[in-house]
Amino acid sequence: MKIAVLAGDGIGPEIVAQATKVLDTLRRDGLKMETEVAAFGGAGFDAFGDPLPESTLQLAQAADAVLCGAVGGPKYDALPRAQRPEQGILRIRKALNLFANLRPAIMYPELVGASSLKPEVVSGLDVMIIRELTGDIYFGEPRGRTTNAQGDTEGFDTMRYSQTEIRRIAEIGFQTAMKRAKRLCSVDKENVLETSRFWREIVIDVAKQYPEVELSHMYVDNAAMQLVRRPKQFDVIVTGNIFGDILSDEASMLTGSIGMLPSASLDAKRKGLYEPIHGSAPDIAGKDVANPLATILSVAMMLRYTFNQDEWAQRIEKAVKAVLGRGLRTADIFEPGMTKLGTQAMGDAVVAAL
Ligand code: NAD
Repeated sequence: MKIAVLAGDGIGPEIVAQATKVLDTLRRDGLKMETEVAAFGGAGFDAFGDPLPESTLQLAQAADAVLCGAVGGPKYDALPRAQRPEQGILRIRKALNLFANLRPAIMYPELVGASSLKPEVVSGLDVMIIRELTGDIYFGEPRGRTTNAQGDTEGFDTMRYSQTEIRRIAEIGFQTAMKRAKRLCSVDKENVLETSRFWREIVIDVAKQYPEVELSHMYVDNAAMQLVRRPKQFDVIVTGNIFGDILSDEASMLTGSIGMLPSASLDAKRKGLYEPIHGSAPDIAGKDVANPLATILSVAMMLRYTFNQDEWAQRIEKAVKAVLGRGLRTADIFEPGMTKLGTQAMGDAVVAAL
């Protein structure tokens, strides 16, 4: 197991240091792995004049999985677009052909007060949203501006999905459902869009290989509504790029705490880039207050989805739950009566629980 570790900027190095402690603990307990660090984002620009330096890209390509902190910060905001840290993320996703984005939204019972929804609606929530990441209207050609017969100028984009693209994301959807409660909801807009009609046909065809998974279909407008009305009805949702963009942000907010949520972006061979969903939080960088749990939980996702080491993944998840159960909190999830910990102390608490 070769893991490339790209800490990035802002709180990135602080939270990745805690995830590294967790990896070191697992290594001590017998999990065989190698880790190597490289400069990325603003740190890549500082060291090599490029947010994705060639040496970093080579390391990421040679590794089985990549662990990222976060990139970006006010120091880099005035740079030309190509040199901005965020371009490093977009380029690495493209270079590694990471077409499947997995974002769990899990409500920890101890944090139920952090949600903007009523406790009974969200307690026990555990949804996985799978978003196709490299196709759809965001990349479809042709796109641009044209002048129509009436002399009016119009802007246009093209929604399109090939059979190959739909099949491979549907496979990820079914395989993920097999590791969970075996229920998959495919979200589309089949009543209006030709692309969605094709999407649904292919998903139904792929379902034949997974008789144990209960497949359902939902229109995206209804899915947006159901996610706030009765989110616990979902196990795994699979959808295209634009619908997934919107629904995954909506789902992550159900839990109310950005510092808790990990993500994975996978290629066809399950190689993955794992990162917290939040950014580099420059407002709290260097203060030892950032929540490292999203990054630590990203390591658990890495063990489950790239390395098929479910037991080790569960060990990390249980350790995080145990820490929360003991009333230990970073500032972002703190409530009166709890014990407030800094970033490093929270990392140590997870290691102790492991
Ligand atoms: P952000 O996610 O960094 O921060 C939003 C708010 O959440 C801030 O108040 C921050 O303090 C808080 N927060 C975020 N993570 C936290 C954590 N682990 N613990 C406690 N509090 C946390 O979003 P932003 O402020 O819009 O962006 C800051 C920078 O991050 C920008 O340069 C942006 O481009 C970049 N960014 C990077 C990524 C990425 O690396 N994938 C993603 C989003 C934003």
